[in-house]
Amino acid sequence: MEPLLRCALALSLVSVLTRAAELRSAPSVTNMRGVAAAPRSRDTATSIGTAEAPCPRGTLPDGNVCIPVPDPDRGSTAEALQEQQNEHHDRSGRLRVYDQIPRQPERPKDFRKYRLPVPVLADPSFVGSGYDLDRPDDEQRRSPELSAVGHGGVDLAQARGTPIRLVNLENQVGDATVLAVGHLFGNTLVTLHTVREAGMLREYLVMYGHLQSAAPGLAQGQGLKPGALLGFVGDSGSPGIVHLHLEVRRAREGIDASRLALGQVTQNAKTVACDPRNVLELLP
Ligand SMILES: [Zn+2]
Repeated sequence: MEPLLRCALALSLVSVLTRAAELRSAPSVTNMRGVAAAPRSRDTATSIGTAEAPCPRGTLPDGNVCIPVPDPDRGSTAEALQEQQNEHHDRSGRLRVYDQIPRQPERPKDFRKYRLPVPVLADPSFVGSGYDLDRPDDEQRRSPELSAVGHGGVDLAQARGTPIRLVNLENQVGDATVLAVGHLFGNTLVTLHTVREAGMLREYLVMYGHLQSAAPGLAQGQGLKPGALLGFVGDSGSPGIVHLHLEVRRAREGIDASRLALGQVTQNAKTVACDPRNVLELLP
């Protein structure tokens, strides 16, 4: 190899490593006013398994960082989804600041244009309650019957007992896996998906809530192909309102999502709310 070329390659590698180290040591977000927010030290303080976790699929270890292996075929040119900071007052009146990923302008509003885990009803109220964590505080969902303010997912109306089937996410790499089954939004199942995003691999969690029941025999870590039976639509945790609560969250960098307990999956320090329309596959 020419000495000049070798030198240039070495320099570019150093630049990549330095950038990766900066990103890891000082995670930051851009808030709604476009101002960079302060690094969230609690994220790194409370992250689990970062030191001992191996590099995710599609990356190679180099020192103490993981370098993505470029894949020219899929997702490598798409821009990373940007987090924004927003806030609302919870029911006790306390101001809660959180991060969230709003629907990107180029993504269709209509949920019928996406591949969904339940069949679509002709009823115009098929989408009961939408994602509103990107809205101003006073426009977010509030109700005396609801403990939470705001809605981090979408509610899809369907008949009780309707089978819920796995859909892959856009630019997904490998099979989804079962992350957890338990009680969160009533009976809830959480699946884990690796997605190639701007040349990086990111982990997304998909939550299916208010199930009549999860499919029998699902075990944590189990691989799932598209169409796999996940459970049945019900109203657990939302008596009388039969629907599927579908919620998507992106694991923060440095968080080993496969080790999150059910009680941690919606914690802002671990995962970030994401409008599902950013990652659901568009129908042809
Ligand atoms: Zn819901």
